[in-house]
Amino acid sequence: MKQSKKQNLLFLLLFPLMLLAACTSSTVANQDITERLSQSSAPIVNWGVKADTNLFGLYNIEKGEIEGFDIDIAKALTEEITGDAENAEFIEVTSKTRIPLIKNGNIDAIIATMTISEERMKQVNFSDVYFAAGQSLLVPNDSTIQSVEDLDTDTTVLAVKGSTSAQNIREHAPETNVLELENYSEAFTALQSGQGDAVTTDNAILLGIIADNPGYRLAGAPFTDEPYGIAINHGQENFLDAVNEALDTIIENGTYAEIFSKWFPEEEVPDLD
Ligand code: GLU
Repeated sequence: MKQSKKQNLLFLLLFPLMLLAACTSSTVANQDITERLSQSSAPIVNWGVKADTNLFGLYNIEKGEIEGFDIDIAKALTEEITGDAENAEFIEVTSKTRIPLIKNGNIDAIIATMTISEERMKQVNFSDVYFAAGQSLLVPNDSTIQSVEDLDTDTTVLAVKGSTSAQNIREHAPETNVLELENYSEAFTALQSGQGDAVTTDNAILLGIIADNPGYRLAGAPFTDEPYGIAINHGQENFLDAVNEALDTIIENGTYAEIFSKWFPEEEVPDLD
């Protein structure tokens, strides 16, 4: 009895705080980003980015900053939108945390190897496509796996929680075992330690892993289309327009091509028009 009175009192004391916290996060998420940027003397754009994904967003310990294609595109867009690339701020996300973080208003946009999908569009809007990838498999050089067709009940594929790859692999190889990890560094470590036979995600991400780990190769051609878009919360259509306009500008003025060739020097710059 005493215990439940105490609990009631605690609830009464904490309830206003809980309400305030809920209101604050929904207020932040609902505030018009474009308006906030135009009214602020320090118009910071908070980008959700990967920090463990070579070529797209990877933390450089020596420099103390995250580097990659997504980072450079975000900086170029921030420069177009606010006049200064230094206004870009980067917050680490994983495939699983990126949508909850944007829904809470912790970040303004996600630029993190994220495929545009119908399912995700129920929660966020996407910019125009800024990169075209496709799902593939990464295996050790001496693996007998040559393509997604070689996956069966005897194989285990490592995927990342919250990724389209984790869903797609179940459709393309329904018999195989799938083990889902938190992020790509964990997935690759699991492959190295023999917990699985292949890692599956986008070819561009896998090529980034191979660049640092020569004992591994891709197995087979991509078996899905993964067009990357910048995700922005519903209700932020002004900011979405600003991002699309900035994207058009950097494609037209050659900045996009410069950034693309910096990170993918062997690839032809895609025609995004
Ligand atoms: N592009 C895929 C996705 O959006 C895989 C890469 C990732 O996990 O970010 O889910």
